Amino acid sequence: MKQLPPRSRKVRIIATLGPASSNADMIRRLFQAGADAFRLNMSHGAHETHAANVGFIRALEKEFHRPTTILADLQGPKLRVGTFAAGPVVLETGAAFMLDRDPTPGDVTRVNLPHPEIFQALVTGSRLLLDDGKLVLRVETVSPERIETRVEVGGFLSERKGVNVPDVVLPMAALTDKDRRDLTFAIEQEVDWVALSFVQRPEDVAEARRLMGGQGALMAKIEKPAAVDRLEEILEVADAAMVARGDLGVELPPYAVPPLQKRIVETARRLGKPVVVATQMLESMIKAPTPTRAEVSDVATAVYDGADAVMLSAETAAGDWPEQAVAMMDSIAHSVERDPGYLGRLRYTETLPDATTADALAEASQQITATVSAKAVICFTSSGSTVRRVARERPVAPILALTPKFQTARRLGIVWGVHAIRTKDIGSFEEMIGKARRMALRHKFAGAGDKIIVLAGVPFGTPGSTNVLHVAMIRGDELKGHGEG
Ligand code: PGA
Ligand code: MN
Repeated sequence: MKQLPPRSRKVRIIATLGPASSNADMIRRLFQAGADAFRLNMSHGAHETHAANVGFIRALEKEFHRPTTILADLQGPKLRVGTFAAGPVVLETGAAFMLDRDPTPGDVTRVNLPHPEIFQALVTGSRLLLDDGKLVLRVETVSPERIETRVEVGGFLSERKGVNVPDVVLPMAALTDKDRRDLTFAIEQEVDWVALSFVQRPEDVAEARRLMGGQGALMAKIEKPAAVDRLEEILEVADAAMVARGDLGVELPPYAVPPLQKRIVETARRLGKPVVVATQMLESMIKAPTPTRAEVSDVATAVYDGADAVMLSAETAAGDWPEQAVAMMDSIAHSVERDPGYLGRLRYTETLPDATTADALAEASQQITATVSAKAVICFTSSGSTVRRVARERPVAPILALTPKFQTARRLGIVWGVHAIRTKDIGSFEEMIGKARRMALRHKFAGAGDKIIVLAGVPFGTPGSTNVLHVAMIRGDELKGHGEG
């Protein structure tokens, strides 16, 4: 059996797959370089390609005996203009330009906008941002058939370019027909996480969850000002959040994004929901083997902010240096985490425990870990909820999640500081402590004479029932005579 050394890094790395990485060899390389989870971007690529990638990712579990984590990212209601009769047009600043319901190819005076819902929502003065915000149109008059605008910032516009509408809440379904097909596919493929794009309201998350029918966990992408306005409510109903800086930085000025990144990360952490910082993190590595110093600083900032995971997009999906991008992210994270001030800074975010036994023990485990220099916090978990509460406290020692459920082990792959191991169910308290010791030793988190902390719910098997915290000492003879996984 091939064994990777345990990852000493706390923050997790998500790598997006695409043309540059949709093969078994590159996926294995990214995994070995430090990718903890893989994102399938449903905006691109055929289902067959995604299905093949799922197979390649899951094959790593057998090869390396470590759970893998897959995130399927739904495109969401991304708006696009129609086509042009004679190729791209140039919109002059100050000119009039119309968007209408007519599917005929457009020209320099008009283009089709195949999203009837927008016509209802826009008002005079609303902005339309085209092609990632490169062009800006201001609405002058709007009817159910046409939107007359003035070009405020002109430029080239080619067919099917994206349209962002930051100023209004759009009366659009959270999931398009394509999203529904992609979601059905993702559930069939048994992905661990589904990310929902352009969330505007908590109901959007509820709608997606209903369609998921209890399969997979749900990540809300925060990329609309409307979602920022209702951040707490949205995070309450989601299982995780993504700071989707790409679209967020189009809908809002780019300089509005850093304070929001801090706020979203902090809110998610307070609620005990994993949070991912995403987009353009090492953008220049799409074309170059080394990043800019500013990009390195940006990744470091996300780690210092206490994000659970940092994400690579085009760097690993379509770049020339996918493996190097993951390795660079890994090095940056290690460098920050070696900073003696790192954990202290994370405590700036106050995480008040809920009035539950599980939360009280999770909070205590962090303090006891520091006080007795425990080498690992070992959680017996069924749903993973206790593990997330422990991770929320950001303990200095690694968190070992022992679970009989594949789904739980895989889902925990994006959570800060957590190493999930699939094991058989346990029967008694003695068995549990014995197993915790052996697992800590076997996976090289602790050696003879070290202390470990064990958290579990007794009787076993009731989710959310954590009520035991035990400090154990590892003996030297622990590994003998046991062969179970
Ligand atoms: P995307 O989402 O890559 O699917 O657009 C992330 C973002 O907008 O930052
Ligand atoms: Mn986006």
